[in-house]
Amino acid sequence: MHKVIELAEKVKGWVLDILFPISSLPVGIKLNQTLFCPTCRARLPNNTKICHKKSQYKLGAASSYSDAKIRRLIWQLKYRGRTGNSVCLGILLTDYLKNLGINLKNYSVIPVPISKNREQKRGYNHAKLIAKIISGNFNLPLEEEMIFKNRETLPQAEVKDWEERKKNLKDCFSITDAAKVKNKNFIIVDDVFTSGATLNEIARVLKPGGFLIGIETLAHHPLANLKRRLNRRCGVRTDWAASHIMKINDFKTANQYFNAVEIRFFHFISLVAIPFQNLPGGSLFVKIMNNIDKIIFLLFPFLKRYGFKSVFILIKK
Ligand SMILES: [Zn+2]
Repeated sequence: MHKVIELAEKVKGWVLDILFPISSLPVGIKLNQTLFCPTCRARLPNNTKICHKKSQYKLGAASSYSDAKIRRLIWQLKYRGRTGNSVCLGILLTDYLKNLGINLKNYSVIPVPISKNREQKRGYNHAKLIAKIISGNFNLPLEEEMIFKNRETLPQAEVKDWEERKKNLKDCFSITDAAKVKNKNFIIVDDVFTSGATLNEIARVLKPGGFLIGIETLAHHPLANLKRRLNRRCGVRTDWAASHIMKINDFKTANQYFNAVEIRFFHFISLVAIPFQNLPGGSLFVKIMNNIDKIIFLLFPFLKRYGFKSVFILIKK
């Protein structure tokens, strides 16, 4: 029954598209005039100087999601099969980019990928439709297959907490051809910019070399495993994520792919001190316990894997 309603909605979308094709900008949508800092959302003067220098990209946002017209266009495009709306959104982004006056000569256009499953169900990737319009308007190459989603993730809109959003997308994108990415510039196209987690993750895989710092409780820790099982039951953690927790042996594998692998272990018995760390004398308590941990790890190295935090640094020179 659900399928029938879905199909009916799609057909309705097609019919509406044919009857009322949207090929020009609906009036009254206010266009932004600058690029933005993805970290703090500040407008960038001259579209060049960036306030948060560590940001991996500049954010282009044609308009605001608080505009009801924009919200409707996107919602219909994603959930009501109104693929014609992509033309309108594409024009909006084209006009915005033109107004910025940036030289886009050596850029390629990449749509943010959605999982194969979702694309099949929806019948299309909405970001791809918008990206097509932009690449056509500026005569730029469209790289549809450059990035793909290597696993299912929860829809970002369903994940409320910023940290969880980041986790939800961690390592979910892969690039098909690393050589193609070298010394290139990209316009990455998506419908909405929310936490920035998606773009941060894509920017990371597009950069060759570099290094990765991760913090994880290894799969040997019984308490962490209990929490993971609970998270899985309430759907916070996907099955993929639940079956891919780092074990100590994984660092041996990492050694094959990275020039330098460094791991540090924290919080074995000092875990009991963590709840007190913000109370008076708490930080001293944590410090003392941490030092005891150091001695324990030195005497009994096999206990390291039960540390509550493992910080690992992978470097590819
Ligand atoms: Zn900033």
